[in-house]
Amino acid sequence: MANIAFVGLGNMGGPMAINLIKAGHKVCVFDLSESAVAQVVEQGASTKVSAIDCVKDARFIISMLPAGKHVDAVYLSPETGLINHIAKGSVVIDSSTIDATTSRKVATALAEQGVGFVDAPVSGGVGGAVAGTLSFMVGGSDDEFKQVEPILDAMGKNIFHAGEHGAGQIAKVCNNMLLSVLMVGTSEALQLGLANGLDAKVLSNIMSKSSGSNWTLDVYNPCPDVMGNVPSSNDYQGGFMVDLMAKDLGLAMDTAVDSKSSTPMGALARSLYAMHAASGNGGKDFSSIFNLFNHSSK
Ligand code: NAD
Repeated sequence: MANIAFVGLGNMGGPMAINLIKAGHKVCVFDLSESAVAQVVEQGASTKVSAIDCVKDARFIISMLPAGKHVDAVYLSPETGLINHIAKGSVVIDSSTIDATTSRKVATALAEQGVGFVDAPVSGGVGGAVAGTLSFMVGGSDDEFKQVEPILDAMGKNIFHAGEHGAGQIAKVCNNMLLSVLMVGTSEALQLGLANGLDAKVLSNIMSKSSGSNWTLDVYNPCPDVMGNVPSSNDYQGGFMVDLMAKDLGLAMDTAVDSKSSTPMGALARSLYAMHAASGNGGKDFSSIFNLFNHSSK
């Protein structure tokens, strides 16, 4: 079992840290929010006055932070950065969803200090974090991947080695861009059927067994009351927030610009999610984009 420092105990990081404790690891946790720290300490973690004190004895350092600027500051800030306090031979696992450029920058700076790094963003949401069934998309060397795999196993079900540093972040934005396009397409197709007198359950069943079949239609249907146990049947509460999808689509567009890639469907999905968020839906599940195409109110 390993000594692990965990920084960032929000909706995702809190339950992920608890799963490491359940797996028998020794976990020292830190967050700017005292209540977030208290919840994980209650489950058996230790804590220190600063993240610096937590990382000193850690073999692995895991971070689950909101965005690239937080990851950059936590590791590389000249005053409080963890970089000067992490022991040589340790490995940093950053599971935040951030731009690949920042991941590579942190990886390079840590390597100069003899510290390993993987970017390991996740898919599976808060439900997956609690259940320990997340998918991890890992960017790093073969050796780094081999070292972190047993640690990630305690928090996830599918651990993928996507490629070198930054590759995990690229895989994550490709997946979420495709997911958003599928959700928009499924929503407009269902609304078209409804506007022309079809029953949403009947149409969903037909398309699920036909060539329109896809994950958003088959297991995460955006039309209320077609399925139980999905956010659309619970007033779009829980699940994966519109604000987070909008953030990920922003990262996908930045990635497309950097690589001169053409992503017209992703660009349209980004605009639609930005508009949906700006209309006050940022805290709802991303399947609520279904309402954007609602014909019954016209
Ligand atoms: P969150 O806002 O709930 O948690 C972030 C935590 O980081 C907060 O507790 C905050 O206090 C802490 N924090 C910020 N700056 C810090 C610092 N300098 N030192 C210590 N702690 C600091 O966010 P979340 O929903 O847990 O998401 C975290 C990351 O996971 C994001 O990058 C997000 O895009 C990604 N993600 C989220 C989901 C999801 O469904 N929530 C799914 C997949 C990926």
